[in-house]
Amino acid sequence: MPTTLVPVSKNAAKFISTPKKMLINGEWVEAASGERKETRNPATGEVLTTFPEGGVEDIDRAVASARKAFEEGPWPKIKPNERAKLLLNLADLMEENCEELSHLETLDNGGPIGVTAAFVDLSVNNLRYFAGWATKVTGETIPVSNPGNVFNYTRREPLGVIGGITPWNGPLYMAILKLSAPLATGNTVVLNPASLTPLTALRLGELVQEAGFPDGVVNIVTGSGSKAGARLSEHPDVDKITFTGSTAVGKQIIQASAGNVKKVSLELGGKSAHIIFADANYEQALENAANAVFFNSGQACIAGSRLFVENKIYDQFMSDLADYAEKNFTIGNGFDQSAMMGPLISAKQKDQVLGYIDIGQKEGGEVLFGGDATESEFANGHFVKPTVLANITNDMTIAREEIFGPVVSGMPFKDIDEVIKLANQSIYGLGGGISTTNLSKAHRVAHGLRTGNIWINTYNLLDPATPYGGFKQSGLGRENGKTAIDMLTEEKSIWVNLD
Ligand code: NDP
Repeated sequence: MPTTLVPVSKNAAKFISTPKKMLINGEWVEAASGERKETRNPATGEVLTTFPEGGVEDIDRAVASARKAFEEGPWPKIKPNERAKLLLNLADLMEENCEELSHLETLDNGGPIGVTAAFVDLSVNNLRYFAGWATKVTGETIPVSNPGNVFNYTRREPLGVIGGITPWNGPLYMAILKLSAPLATGNTVVLNPASLTPLTALRLGELVQEAGFPDGVVNIVTGSGSKAGARLSEHPDVDKITFTGSTAVGKQIIQASAGNVKKVSLELGGKSAHIIFADANYEQALENAANAVFFNSGQACIAGSRLFVENKIYDQFMSDLADYAEKNFTIGNGFDQSAMMGPLISAKQKDQVLGYIDIGQKEGGEVLFGGDATESEFANGHFVKPTVLANITNDMTIAREEIFGPVVSGMPFKDIDEVIKLANQSIYGLGGGISTTNLSKAHRVAHGLRTGNIWINTYNLLDPATPYGGFKQSGLGRENGKTAIDMLTEEKSIWVNLD
């Protein structure tokens, strides 16, 4: 039976019907080089539209505009409650244009429309949360013990120009993370979105203007990371880089930032352990284990890709997980409402994922379900079925390296001490899941894991009020919550002689 697709919204279709420009100093411009790039639909391989291939000169212009807006424009004089209002305006506009944004995201990165719409909601909530912070960034009065009549207080001041670099796996939400807290705290921003998925960031630029942000406060420069992103990272007039992407590029950003001792926040890769104890609520654990790794086709830094199952239930659980994946995680075009998983982002990503599955099998792993997507209807897209592998050990390549695809590696364990040790044997420390009905066991494991985010009897929950980030090579710093406010401001200590 032919698949029925939800029609692309009129506004999304209109947006992609023209070649796109990028936003510098309030103007929509071409790249200085005049070069353009195509963006394609990963479900069909079709070209959606083209966009400017910005480079060094364009980043330099954008940084100059962000600097001017930070120092001279109306921005530094705008009161905190007016900054809050601008962020709330943007949130309202995103909410009004939810369908268009969700459809653009699905066209560009392939996610099912239900998932991309949920990311719009998350983005709206994030803006509203940080709008609330704009009026609450306070210093302290400090009871100093110096002789004489002296007084000390602190102020929290914006850092200046923030460079945001985003990946393709959640493009709109990532762009919002690079705008919301930085703008709430009075910084200005130059955003360089991933080359594979520029569309929602560019539409966001239009909404930023409509919301009333002054020119130069938000600049959006498309163009490859190796040129535009690299220039932003080394730029002497950028005060901080906030980056989400691979650990390899994160390391390059640290090096590039040394020139002017930039501050850096990095949200990097992961290889998260999801631990299932035999006493868990079995059905709930099964559902959580599948969602943890197959959400967003496994293209998630927090994907629970190492599944540790207590040995008493290991064989049954792995077999049930394979059945669950087959029945529930149907693949398809993101506009097909029955699809739970869209395509991977690119042919390169598909090859990478299939390559890992192959290595996993060569190293002794057994595919219980998935491994490829051979049906002809998927021929032009980058589809891989949810893949469940058993007989994996923690030292295999597939259990050590980030795959960034819908692949889960199942491993048995015997007790708490062993599983904490195994889970921590990773260069990463971003997410982690625990399924058990035993409260003390849950907390003991949660405290033992060297990782930034842990979900007990659930997975994948995010909220703007909770800090998000990684231990070890999964990152530096935190986004969201009060920690983000601290990380986007400088603390100034002021001494006053009252005599
Ligand atoms: P990258 O880390 O290469 O890309 C993320 C962003 O960084 C993109 O905007 C990219 O630009 C930009 N970038 C690339 N090189 C530089 C540079 N030298 N300086 C500054 N910015 C740069 O990830 P990929 O998209 O290539 O994916 C590769 C792997 O990374 C994935 O398979 C996955 O394992 C991991 N990854 C992890 C993510 C996470 O959320 N933790 C997100 C994305 C990827 P451009 O798009 O032009 O290349």
